[in-house]
Amino acid sequence: MVQEIFTKDFTKQEPICDEGIERALEVLKTGKLHRYNIDSGEKGDATLLEAEFAAYIGKKYCIACASCGSAMHLALKALGASRGDKVLCNAFTLAPVPGAIENSGTDVELVEIIDDYTVDLDDLESKAGDAKWFLLSHMRGHITNMDRVMEICRTHDLTLIEDCAHTMGASWNGKKSGSFGKVSCFSTQTYKHINSGEGGLLLTDDPNVISKAIIHSGSYMLYERHTARPAMEVFEPFKTMVPSYSYRMDNLRAAILRPQLRMLDEQCARWNKRYKILEEGLNGIDGISCPERDPRESYVGSSIQFSLNDRDEETIKAFLQGCMDRGVELKWFGNKEPIGFTSAYSSWKYFSKLPSLPNTDRILSTMCDMRVPLTFSEEDCETILHIIRSVASTMF
Ligand SMILES: *Cc1c(COP(=O)(O)O)cnc(C)c1O
Repeated sequence: MVQEIFTKDFTKQEPICDEGIERALEVLKTGKLHRYNIDSGEKGDATLLEAEFAAYIGKKYCIACASCGSAMHLALKALGASRGDKVLCNAFTLAPVPGAIENSGTDVELVEIIDDYTVDLDDLESKAGDAKWFLLSHMRGHITNMDRVMEICRTHDLTLIEDCAHTMGASWNGKKSGSFGKVSCFSTQTYKHINSGEGGLLLTDDPNVISKAIIHSGSYMLYERHTARPAMEVFEPFKTMVPSYSYRMDNLRAAILRPQLRMLDEQCARWNKRYKILEEGLNGIDGISCPERDPRESYVGSSIQFSLNDRDEETIKAFLQGCMDRGVELKWFGNKEPIGFTSAYSSWKYFSKLPSLPNTDRILSTMCDMRVPLTFSEEDCETILHIIRSVASTMF
């Protein structure tokens, strides 16, 4: 007998693993939570996390930050993006991305998306003319053709920054997401792939960029205590030229994250089991479709998106309400009012001129989104499908 009402919480993550809790308690007992509050010669958890994460993605340098939003701001600043520069960015992303661009004083140029929810690479190319930077957000884990992205960046002299908030553990054609950009930024916020409440990680192979990012993050001239950094003399010219933004991560959060990083690949496989069940089930429902995914894309299905093909606003609202009444919480990117999160570019009115992007508008107008926390079992996924199927059958 399948449940008629789903009662689990779509925002409930798994507890922090025992190893993380134990390590956190050890840090708490020392009282030395600040990343630079360590004995001489000792490596604190923030420093160790940076070295471990850089090794995991295959980059040389890393700085742990307060959030992914702060990491993206650091990236733009450390790269030297300045007032009047144009930053290209896909229009389908989350509010911290345009926020980081605004914070850096640069001008944003939003790029259309295509039907599989990834950035429109033709539109990117047509807008690349006088832009210097491309902040590519792998929104909801959908990875575009990175070979073509790299080609466009080479041809148009664009510097790539990757927002990997939803692609930690993912890859394109066997190469890790976050290893393509000059700089890449990750989130360790609760709803992402490893959880420290809040947190971010910035990676790069460029010694000048990381030196500036470390000083910007608020290193109090204590950058010698970092491990994932270049030689001390690289910092010398920037020492007094780079302001501090106090974007540090503390040792407590890093202590929670280090054991989670060791489990990451295993967790991603668990997410993908659930994703595959949901994807197959949703594609079997009339009126619903999940985007086809490129076989070169190895994603992490920590959430799932689907389109309610050709349905109007009233029908979509009734469908969402019908699901909600039975405990299945879906978000809708087509909502005119930003509720719970802000992913419609029309809600970034602080930019003086917002473009009109007809394809993005059309695609977002029928796009739904569902979180898939690992507290849901594979059986729960079947229950959710059963509910969506029966609500859809009364409507479509
Ligand atoms: C969550 C998220 C971010 C920012 O993460 P924070 O750590 O909360 O600043 C950036 N981009 C996308 C696509 C996100 O979903």
